[in-house]
Amino acid sequence: ESKLQLVQRHIRAFPDFPQQGILFRDICPILKDPAALTAVIDLFEDHVRKNHQQLDLIVGLDARGFLFGPLLAQRLGLGFVLVRKKGKLPGTTVSVAYDLEYGKAEVEIQEDAVAPGQKVLLIDDLLATGGTLHAACELMEKLQAQIAGCLVVIELQELKGADKLKPHRVFSLLRY
Ligand code: IMP
Repeated sequence: ESKLQLVQRHIRAFPDFPQQGILFRDICPILKDPAALTAVIDLFEDHVRKNHQQLDLIVGLDARGFLFGPLLAQRLGLGFVLVRKKGKLPGTTVSVAYDLEYGKAEVEIQEDAVAPGQKVLLIDDLLATGGTLHAACELMEKLQAQIAGCLVVIELQELKGADKLKPHRVFSLLRY
């Protein structure tokens, strides 16, 4: 079994969650199996080492980006910073409002989390419409960071999130 097959076996689908008509992809089984979680980080690490140089930070999205981001950052010897839902971070923050697959939201980052010119890779569990990662990219632009790309475990291709994120590149382990 390949690492990718191992990961795929640990993703479940729940119909009509959190709303009628949504097929929710659940990554919780990955976290429950150390071999599957290691495989996710191995695959991300391989991709980053082959495709990115001189990164400064991994930027994780609230909340499931926080599960994979710090593990990857440690592997790569990089720091990790948090993009959070509004109202969770102390100190001076910068925020961006956006529409998501179901509802509205606002993401926020500490103003000093990323210095101008720093090269960052963003990470989340799943790319749907791209609204969340797009808002996080806007935050990076407000802080004058250099965006190297976005990483996700799962990409829901029919929602065309990768198009919304252009010209930034998206790397996904699995596409549905
Ligand atoms: P987007 O902004 O439409 O791309 O939605 C992506 C965000 O919503 C990510 O932060 C995901 O964690 C969450 N999300 C949307 N759909 C799903 C799903 O099917 N499973 C898990 N998370 C989802």
